[in-house]
Amino acid sequence: MSENSNHMSPEEFRRNGYAVIEWIARYMEEVGEYPVMSRVSPGEILDALPAAAPDHGSKDVLPILKDMDEIILPGITHWASPKFFAYFPSNASPPAILGDLMSSGLGVQGMLWVTSPAATELEIRMMDWLATLLQLPKRFHSGGNGGGVIQDSASSSVLCAILAARERVTQGQSNREGLSGTQPLTAYSSTEAHSSIEKGLRIAGIGSQGLRKVGVDEQFSIDLVALRAQIEADIAAGFRPFFVSATLGSTSSGAFDSVVGLGALCQEYDLWLHVDAAMFGTAAACPEYRWIHEGLELADSYCFNPHKWMLTNFDCCAFWVADRKDLIGALGIHPDYLQNRATDSGDVTDYRDWQIPLGRRFRALKLWFVLRTYGVEGIQRVVREHVGLTQMFAELVCAAPAFELCAPHPFNLVCFRLRGGDTENRQLMEALNDSGALYLSHTTLNDQFVLRFCVGQWATEECHVQEAWTRICEFAASVQSTAS
Ligand code: PLP
Repeated sequence: MSENSNHMSPEEFRRNGYAVIEWIARYMEEVGEYPVMSRVSPGEILDALPAAAPDHGSKDVLPILKDMDEIILPGITHWASPKFFAYFPSNASPPAILGDLMSSGLGVQGMLWVTSPAATELEIRMMDWLATLLQLPKRFHSGGNGGGVIQDSASSSVLCAILAARERVTQGQSNREGLSGTQPLTAYSSTEAHSSIEKGLRIAGIGSQGLRKVGVDEQFSIDLVALRAQIEADIAAGFRPFFVSATLGSTSSGAFDSVVGLGALCQEYDLWLHVDAAMFGTAAACPEYRWIHEGLELADSYCFNPHKWMLTNFDCCAFWVADRKDLIGALGIHPDYLQNRATDSGDVTDYRDWQIPLGRRFRALKLWFVLRTYGVEGIQRVVREHVGLTQMFAELVCAAPAFELCAPHPFNLVCFRLRGGDTENRQLMEALNDSGALYLSHTTLNDQFVLRFCVGQWATEECHVQEAWTRICEFAASVQSTAS
C-alpha cells in the first residue's frame, strides 16, 4: 500500500493500534479515580463536536485520542469502575476486549456457515462449553435436537423464543398468513419479569394485551395458583395460552420463579416455557449455586447474559433451545442469492436462521478468550468473590438501625432502604451518585422506593464495598439531619 493511500498501511495500523491499546490500559488503571456517573449536562458533548465530518482526514489517531480524553471521557458513566454498583453490571474484562478486537480485526460477517466456517463452529463449541459450565440439561447441548446461539441481548432471545412458540402453537400458520385467522394468543409472566417480554409480544403481533402479568408472593416469585387460575380463565374466554416466561433473578430484586412449578404447568397446558436468567445464570458456574436451575429440563428455551456477570463485553447473550425446529421454522428464510452447496447439503448450521437479523458478528471469539484465560476456576472465583462481598454488604446494612433490607439477597444484589420516606431515599441516592464516589440505582418494591446495590464489576474489591458503605452512611446521616 503506497504512502499516499488514504488507507492506513499495516505499519501505520500497528503504530496507531499500540497507542489505542495504551489508552485503554491507562483507562483501566485510572477508571477507579473518576467520578462514576457522568456529570455533563444534556447537549454538552454534542456542542463540543463539530457539526460535520472533516473534509480532509488524517491517519494519525493521536488527535482522536486527545478528544477521547477531553470530550468523550467527561461524558462517560464508568461502567468499568470498581465503584459501579448500579443496575446490573456490563463487564469488559481484558481478555474479552482482546477477543472483540480479534473479531474486528477479522471483519467477518458470519451469517452462513460458508461465510466463515470457523465463526459458526467456534460458536457451536462455545455454546456447548457454556452449557457444560452451567451444567444445563443435555437437551440444550448440540448433537441432538437442541442447541445454542449467541444473540445480542436477552431481549432478542425472548423475542426469538416468542416467535418459535408462536410457530409451534399455530403450526406455521402465523408465519404464512399472519395472526388474523388464528385464535387470540396469551402469554404469562410475573409482574416482576423484564419489560422485554412485553416488547417481544408487541413485535410478534400479539400485543401488550396478550400478556398476563401474574402477581407474586412475598419473595417476589410468581404465584403459581394465580397463574393457573388465569390460564383457566383465558381458556374459558376463548384465548389460546401459548407462552410462559420464568425469571431466574428479576431485574428489580433478583427474585427467582419456580421453574419446577412452571414446568409442570406448561406441560399440562402445552405452553412454551422460556427461562430468563440474564443476570444470575452465571452463578450456576459454581456447583453450590446450581439449585437455581432446578426443573430446567422442563424448559423449551433458556438464556443468560455473559455480558452481564460473566466478564464478557457487551453484546453477548447465550440462548439455547431444546428443539431448534420451531426456531428455524419461525426465522429461517432462504433467498436465492444466499444459496450455497453447504446449506443445500443440510450438514451445516446457518446461524442466520436462529436470530432476527441476517448479518452477525463473530462474538464467539470474545467468549473463547474469556473462557480460556479465566478457565472454569477463574469464573467460579469471580462469582464467589462477588457473592461474598455482597453478603458482607448485606450484613452491614442489617446491623445498621437506620437501614432495612427489602428482599432476599442470595447472590450479588442487595435491595435496601433508609428507614423513612421515599423522598429521603431518593435524596440519598441522588446525593451519592452526584458525589461521584459510587453509583447505585433504585427500584420499587411493595410500593416503596428501594436502593439497589449490585457487586458485579470484575475489578471490585472489598475496599470498594467498604468505602461505598462508609459513604452511604455519611450521606444518609446528612439526609436525615436535613429532614428532621
Ligand atoms: N432480563 C432480565 C432479568 C434483565 O435483568 C435484563 C436486563 O437487565 C434483561 C432481561 C434485558 O437484557 P438485555 O439488555 O440483554 O436485553
